[in-house]
Amino acid sequence: MEDVFPSFNESRNVRLVNNIKLLLDNITDCMLCRNYLILIAKKKTVQSLVSTFKSMAISEIDIKKLWGLAAGRCSKPGCMVECVKFLDAINPTIIGEMAHVIAKKPNGPRGIPEGGDDSYENLILLCPTHHTEIDKAPDGVFPSEVIHEWKHAHEEQVKNSFRSPHFANCEDFAIAVKRLLAKNKSTWSRYGPESNEAIQNPLSNLHEIWTLRKLETIVPNNRRIVQMIERNQELIDIKDYSACAKFVEHAEGFERNCYVRTEGVPRFPIDFERMIDRYAQIQ
Ligand SMILES: [Zn+2]
Repeated sequence: MEDVFPSFNESRNVRLVNNIKLLLDNITDCMLCRNYLILIAKKKTVQSLVSTFKSMAISEIDIKKLWGLAAGRCSKPGCMVECVKFLDAINPTIIGEMAHVIAKKPNGPRGIPEGGDDSYENLILLCPTHHTEIDKAPDGVFPSEVIHEWKHAHEEQVKNSFRSPHFANCEDFAIAVKRLLAKNKSTWSRYGPESNEAIQNPLSNLHEIWTLRKLETIVPNNRRIVQMIERNQELIDIKDYSACAKFVEHAEGFERNCYVRTEGVPRFPIDFERMIDRYAQIQ
């Protein structure tokens, strides 16, 4: 919390309120709560705001699990809307909502006497339209079993999308890998900790966006590449195996580090990129 709430002053106020709104997207979608919290923030009573967050917050690991396993997309069957909209390149809008399957209040949607909790198991990532739809529909239209099925099916669909094809030759394999590497590189250089924006505007909301972009773009792309390597080993020259092994280690370390901060994650191996360029005949 300390990073998000450095000492308030007028010049920082707008940016901080934006950061607060971003955090609120992860915590509550009730407009009354949101407006109340923003009001407190504007009145600069930071301590009370922090303590309110602490009492409401979904744990960081559950947020990451929810966004990562859903690949940052709405989980309602057939929707797949991206939950981060890049309407503004510098300050993208997070539209995804972490909806409760069983409402926290006993009389809320799908409520039970003891109320639902804030755990990953009781949350589903949805776009605002589908969140409203399930919460406003008459009782019984969207029972909790149906919503759990949506979530399970969506996460399976995300997992299955990693299944790699067998390529006919090493050039086709390398071009497919190159495409994913290029997407990752562009995400990293635009939103990563070493991007110009991150260095020039340390108070921007880029850190939150980077956290989400890693989970919804880089981690899934890395998994796809690892699958491609495993399923197309016969196309890879034996002298290039160590470059591939380094990439696999990097991908595994990077993913682990997204959930639990770990030291010594191997950096992206340049050997692997050179090998792919050679196979794709890009020199
Ligand atoms: Zn949706």
